[in-house]
Amino acid sequence: MAEPSAFGIAGLVGWPVAHSRSPVIHNHWLARYEIPGRYVLFPVPAERLVDALRGLSALRLRGCNITTPHKQAVMPLVDDVDPLAKRIGAVNTIVVQEDGSLRGFNNDGNGFVQSIRDARPDWRPDAGPIAIIGAGGAARAVVASLADQGAREIRVVNRTYERACELQALFGPPVSAVRWDARADALAGVALVANATNQGMGGKSALDLALDRLTADAIVADLIYMPPETPLLAAARKRGNPTVNGLGMLLNQARPAFNAWFGVTPQITPELIRAIEATF
Ligand code: NAP
Repeated sequence: MAEPSAFGIAGLVGWPVAHSRSPVIHNHWLARYEIPGRYVLFPVPAERLVDALRGLSALRLRGCNITTPHKQAVMPLVDDVDPLAKRIGAVNTIVVQEDGSLRGFNNDGNGFVQSIRDARPDWRPDAGPIAIIGAGGAARAVVASLADQGAREIRVVNRTYERACELQALFGPPVSAVRWDARADALAGVALVANATNQGMGGKSALDLALDRLTADAIVADLIYMPPETPLLAAARKRGNPTVNGLGMLLNQARPAFNAWFGVTPQITPELIRAIEATF
């Protein structure tokens, strides 16, 4: 295999991808660290996914991020899957290795945990019970990382109870599945609650979750970053709870990907955050 091109290209493979802020993040870092390269969007429908992945190495790309709806579908299409991504059952980052093979990672869950640490440095995963609302791909990643990092009790609440049970079976203790109609009570005594559903995104209805049982110091997080303050976060802020939106997760999952593609561990700076907020 020849040396990779000096001009590094990485990008986002998904369908749709136009809404993504990842180009702002990676292109900001490429400029800041004076690395010749570009991060671009690759809208790829499901029927072209195999061809698109084959092209990564042929075109000497450094790699790519993978987003909806391909995170699970790429698993059998890469040569090697990192153990955490294997446990999650989904890949959000592909790195083209020196020999041209593809290795899959999932940085979403670690990105989430780091975003809570960044926002609330006194919080620890074992600080108290955690409630995760949702049991889709993002919830799986978050639960895997929280469990890896020492969480002792994770209550997974999902509209479709069976999917919450799947997470309980997959990760064992500390995960317990909670039925949708018990969601308000599941917040009693938690140190952290996170919305990992799509409810509260622009164009969707608000997450239907009463916060009465939540103690005043519990952190309320939302994986959504658009809008920056979802109705859930607004309600939490009004009752005095600390809040964290999904932007920190997006930024923190991007750092290890950038490092793998371009060889620099990039920093999250106020300037970068301003650049993203300018796109809202
Ligand atoms: P997904 O796999 O499609 O899962 C969607 C989840 O939302 C499921 O648990 C689903 O419950 C639940 N849901 C859908 N409609 C609902 C409703 N009307 N009432 C209650 N629950 C409902 O999606 P995902 O990939 O996990 O993404 C989830 C969220 O995380 C999205 O908002 C996404 O933007 C966000 N996210 C953020 C980042 C970041 O970097 N900040 C990264 C990844 C994802 P059922 O099982 O009952 O259908």
